[in-house]
This record gives sequence, C-alpha cells and structure tokens, in this order.
Amino acid sequence: MTVACFAAVTEVRVEATLTAVETSRRDRLVRQTDRDSYTAAHLLARACAAELLGLAPAQLSLSQSCPRCGAYDHGRPGIDGHDVYISLSHTQGYVAAVASRRPCGIDVETRARSVPARALSQPEHRWICLQPDPLEAFTQLWTRKEALLKAHGHTDPTAATVLGDEGLLSSSQALTFTEWQPQGTPAAVIGCIVAEIPPPDFCR
Ligand SMILES: [Zn+2]
Repeated sequence: MTVACFAAVTEVRVEATLTAVETSRRDRLVRQTDRDSYTAAHLLARACAAELLGLAPAQLSLSQSCPRCGAYDHGRPGIDGHDVYISLSHTQGYVAAVASRRPCGIDVETRARSVPARALSQPEHRWICLQPDPLEAFTQLWTRKEALLKAHGHTDPTAATVLGDEGLLSSSQALTFTEWQPQGTPAAVIGCIVAEIPPPDFCR
C-alpha cells in the first residue's frame, strides 16, 4: 500500500509540532516561505505515514540521516520505529509526500525555464530537444529522475536512468512512475512518484 498527497503550503497547518531537530533545521532557513514549505512538507510526510500505519500523525516522529556524513538533520527521511519508506518534496508554495511499505520517491517541480544541457547526458539532451515542448519534456524527465534517486537513496543524478529506447520509461526496476498535474494549481506544477504497483491515488 502507498499513500501520496499533494497540497499547497497554505493548506497545511504549519504551526503544528515538529521534532527539535526538524525545528532547528527549519529555523536556519532564511526566508519565511522556505520555513513554511519545510514545515508543510514534513507534516505532510508524517500525515501520509500515519494513514499508511493507521496511527495519528502526532504519534509519529520523522527523522533523517545522511549516509554520506552521518548527520541527522538532512538525508533520507524515515519514521522512527516503523518499517515504512517516506519521501517529500516542495517547490514554490506546493508540497508533496508519499509513504509506502516499499521504496518510494516523490518530487514536485515547476515548469523549467530553460534546458540545462550540462545537467543531462547526451541521450537525454537529444531526446528532450526532439520533443514538441522541450521545457515540459525536461521538467518531466527531471522530476522522474529526482523521484527515482530518492526511491533508491542515491544523491548522484547520473545514477538515475529514466530514458529508454522509446523515450521516458513508464517503469524502472519494478518501480512505477506516476505523474500528475494537480487540479486548480498553476499548470506548471508537475509531480511524479516512484512506488509499488499499483500506483497510489492522490489525495487531491
Ligand atoms: Zn550529509
């Protein structure tokens, strides 16, 4: 089972409680909008995990750990004491989160304004340039890449393969990409998750 959710930051009660580590990390962010997005994404991830586990969000504690440096204020998120996978993302006033019994990743991006060739492999760049809307194609590819990286716990973008002979892959290594354009939000916002089959229904 997988639970995924998308919301505007304003729809999440950002005054709700975070852990001390989360609060300290959040308070180091300079802009208020970034602090609100951080809070909203962490609360949404907790809400998704709570629904998956059949518990109240307040019963759950979200923590992160970085496999590279060992720090606990960033890196792959998890729920203390529970065998679940969670992932979260935020961009320009929107947040998305997913919780699953299997590895999962989620990413939301607003439509790209340019195609940064340096961030892409040659086949990726070639494929994007052949699409009728290269900016949309780049945003889709990048969103899938980010979601796949999170699902695998990687941080290296070159480790993600989301292109096949026919273009964007619809699945990869038994994981499924689900993409959606949230209703009632700027069409520029695109989301994508990698999770178990069947893919989740989004809350909205
Ligand atoms: Zn680190």
